[in-house]
Formats: sequence, structure tokens, C-alpha cells
Amino acid sequence: MPDASGERDPLYEELRAYEGRTMVEHGTGKDPVNTPMIRHWCEAMGHPVPPDGSAPATMLQVWIMGGLSGHAPGAGRTSTYDDLFGLLDAAGYRSIVATDCEQEYLAPLRPGQLISYNGVVEAVSPRKTTALGTGYFLTTRTDIRADGVLAGTHRFRVLKYAPAAKRPSPATPPPAEAPRRPRPVVNRDNAGYWQAIERDRRLLIQRCTGCGTLRLPWLPGCNACGSPEWDTLPAAGPGTVFSYVVMHHPPFPAFDPPYAVALVELAEGVRLLGNVVGVPCDKVRVGAPVVLDFQVVDGDLTVPVFRAAGTEAAG
Ligand code: ZN
Repeated sequence: MPDASGERDPLYEELRAYEGRTMVEHGTGKDPVNTPMIRHWCEAMGHPVPPDGSAPATMLQVWIMGGLSGHAPGAGRTSTYDDLFGLLDAAGYRSIVATDCEQEYLAPLRPGQLISYNGVVEAVSPRKTTALGTGYFLTTRTDIRADGVLAGTHRFRVLKYAPAAKRPSPATPPPAEAPRRPRPVVNRDNAGYWQAIERDRRLLIQRCTGCGTLRLPWLPGCNACGSPEWDTLPAAGPGTVFSYVVMHHPPFPAFDPPYAVALVELAEGVRLLGNVVGVPCDKVRVGAPVVLDFQVVDGDLTVPVFRAAGTEAAG
């Protein structure tokens, strides 16, 4: 069959022969549907536990995961997926990226039900060229049963590809102007927030004058009571790292990896995202004390950042 460019693609024909082949037959979930896993998942997602005790539908894939120890060898698995990947690797399509997932929910899952599943290679696309490179989209479908009754279907799609050649660097002249940080979107609802940072180096937290609830980022109304009336409270400065990531990849223009981005809980109780400065990024820890500071980037943009407590401001 010809690909998008009109050329015949023998590899595609070989890959397409995998459509419909079984990857897992009579796989079983490691645990029956159970209340502790439902509760942990709901807590992690910030989702209320369904009052009837059933599992949220979007937990579907959880019940067939292998966990840290993986699936037992064999366990209904065929070599289909490995063989398909082997063909692609051998042909130079060695990189992979997950692109999307689709689920269908047919019946609610309830504690005590036993999970079984079958997986097939559903579709292989003709060769496509994307911004990442050229390759093939592979769609797998897993049918998940609870006590033998089809409860849902999970489709997962990956692109297996050969990365696009990097642009030649030595011959490329340096860009005339260094890339600049993306600018915040300033509108009528948040202009005061950015003005206070820029002019006064103060971080103003919005406070509902109806019920006193604090909020950050700024919003036109109160999530707690619905009131549109508000005033502000300047953040005192101290905070604690609530969570963080260290960015290594992908590189973004105007950012110089690695760098730490933290969700900081301010002393007032609201949380704010910002870079952590004044400490090597591999020393950032959840629970570490930090102090609000401000950093001027690109000469004219002031952003709030967090300085590890006890380290000197660079000025
Ligand atoms: Zn309120």
C-alpha cells in the first residue's frame, strides 16, 4: 500500500499484518476492585469518593496495571508487542512517545469484582511525518471485564518514530536576539497583581470581603461564597515547598535547564508556582522553607520566585 507520499511502504505492510493480533489473553488484575485503591486514587486526584462506593470510571486502567513489580512473566502475554517493536527498532524507528488514550465505560466497577482483560493491536497507521520525526502510530485496545462482564475499553496510542534530524548547529548563525521568557497574560482580572509585583515588589493575595477566603491566582469571584467583592493582602514572604519538579527536558527557549519549579504554600495558606533560586536544583525538597523574592528577567519582566530560606539574595 502506498503511504502518504504515494510511495509503496513494505514496512507498513509488514506492520499492518499485526492488526488484530493478541497481546494479552486472559490477563487478570493483580487485585480485585477494592475500596483502599479507590480511596487512594480519589485522594491523589482530588476527587470525592463516589457515595455508592463504586470506582470512578476513569480509574479503569488502574485495575490492569502491573505496579512496580510488573506483571508476572507469561500471565497471558504474547510476544506480539515486542515483535512489533522489534521490527520498528530494526528499521530505525527507535523513539517512542505516547500520544493519546481513549476510554469507553460500559458498567460501573464495584469492590469485590475480579478483573480480567484481553489486549490486541488494533491499528497501525501508514508512515507519517510529525514535528518529532517520521514513524507509525500504533493503537492498542484492552477490553476490561469485571466478573466476566465487559466493563470498559482502554485504547492507547503511541508514535514509534525516527527523530527528525537536528538542525545543523555550527553553520547556523546565532539568533540576532536571545529568546525572551513568555509574558504573563494581563487582563482586567489580574492587572493589579502584576502591577504590584512590577511597581512595589509585593505579591498581593486576593481576599474575598464576603467570607474572607484567600485566593491565588486572582479570579473575578470567590469560589467559596460566590461574592465578586474583594480586597488584597500582601504576602508576608515565608513559604514551604509543597511539591516541585526539576526541569531537564524538553528545553524551552529562554529557560536554562536544569531548574526547579515549585508549588509553594505561602504562610497565608495559598499556593503559588515559581522557580526556586539560591540553591542547586537537586537540593530542593518537599517541606523545605523558602522565602518569596522577585527576579527581573529580560530587563523588564519581574516575576515572583522562591529563595531557599537562609540564602542571600543576589540583589
Ligand atoms: Zn467568599
